[in-house]
Amino acid sequence: HNHIDHATPEKVQAAIEAGNVHPDVPDYEGLAAYRGDGGYGTLEEIRKSGDFEAIQQTLLDAGLRGLGGAGFPSGRKWGFVRAEPGPRYLAVNGDEGEPGTFKDRYYLERAPHLFLEGMLIAAWAIEAKTCFIYMRDEYPAVLEILRREIAALEQAEIVAPGYIELRRGAGAYICGEESAMIESIEGKRGLPRHRPPFVAQIGVFGRPTLVNNIETLYWVARILREGGEILSGVEKNGRKGLRSYSVSGRVKNPGVHLLPAGSTMQDIIEACGGMLDGHAFKAYQPGGPSAGLLPASMGDIPMDFDVLQEHGTFIGSAAVVVLSDQDSARDAALNMLRFFEDESCGQCTPCRVGCEKAVKLMQADRWDQPLLEELCQAMSDASICGLGQAAPNPIRLTMKHFPDEV
Ligand code: SF4
Repeated sequence: HNHIDHATPEKVQAAIEAGNVHPDVPDYEGLAAYRGDGGYGTLEEIRKSGDFEAIQQTLLDAGLRGLGGAGFPSGRKWGFVRAEPGPRYLAVNGDEGEPGTFKDRYYLERAPHLFLEGMLIAAWAIEAKTCFIYMRDEYPAVLEILRREIAALEQAEIVAPGYIELRRGAGAYICGEESAMIESIEGKRGLPRHRPPFVAQIGVFGRPTLVNNIETLYWVARILREGGEILSGVEKNGRKGLRSYSVSGRVKNPGVHLLPAGSTMQDIIEACGGMLDGHAFKAYQPGGPSAGLLPASMGDIPMDFDVLQEHGTFIGSAAVVVLSDQDSARDAALNMLRFFEDESCGQCTPCRVGCEKAVKLMQADRWDQPLLEELCQAMSDASICGLGQAAPNPIRLTMKHFPDEV
């Protein structure tokens, strides 16, 4: 279920010679090209004479926030973990399981070393004993790229052998929840932990742990090389920075679109070349199923952290799904709850039983709205982790914005 990959250059070479490789590894920037372009220069300088406070301030000034979904200021998180007693660990969350999210994959399949350099800078910042990369197994090409490039880093003596441990997830959505991921890294079943204590205090193997997302670390390397203005210099609708929106659904050009953080859904559809012919914009999912659905009439809200909160939803990992007049909001909401029912770890009753009951109630011709609201309240109040707490969002938002359908 949980494999440790100690990829040595010899093992990777042997796998390639044996033909035991993924047949479809995309072209990406390898170590030689990356270094030729100045790559790992930042890390080298920082390792020689880096000043933690100055680096932390650069990240804070750039406005870098955690891009796995929570949006916590990265510089502050680094500071918390660094203040804890050693040994400390770095755990990279590459589970990217939120349906509709594929931005981490996009960056890893193109520029894996920007991520790896950012990771090693984070490891320096907290003086990490080991870096764990928890990578979803559904990305075989990415796994292979990482195996090869980590081996290349070892060969180039940029990291000591075994310093980076590549762990493969096994397809459980809940293992993207940071404390469940940590349980999984420890070789246990992925059950979210109660908080406090927070993973910054008690994380992997009981030690203080910094958990960062892939894209966050990608931006760390870019900010420290190119300057924080690459994010803070972009302004739109009163918001600063850039967002990598993973867009799917009824648009002409779905995919990862890097746009100003204040972009609205209208802007995003425009960046995707507009709606598919014959489809009219009806609704959108702003940040994965946990964020539920908003109607097209709310397509002018800046799609950024905090802003969507007042509307009972959030941007999360910016997994945007566009629905048209040919889609049913009600069916979409039911589909989301079926997903949560499948993926609930089953540890706590409000979520385990709540998701199951919600699916039953949502299959009725007419939804029993008062009962569903009561159920939503119990789930959001009493679930241990974000899955059960956010699962009511699609139900509540569908009742509110699409009353005719339910
Ligand atoms: Fe598990 Fe759901 Fe409880 Fe989270 S809320 S701990 S997924 S049962």
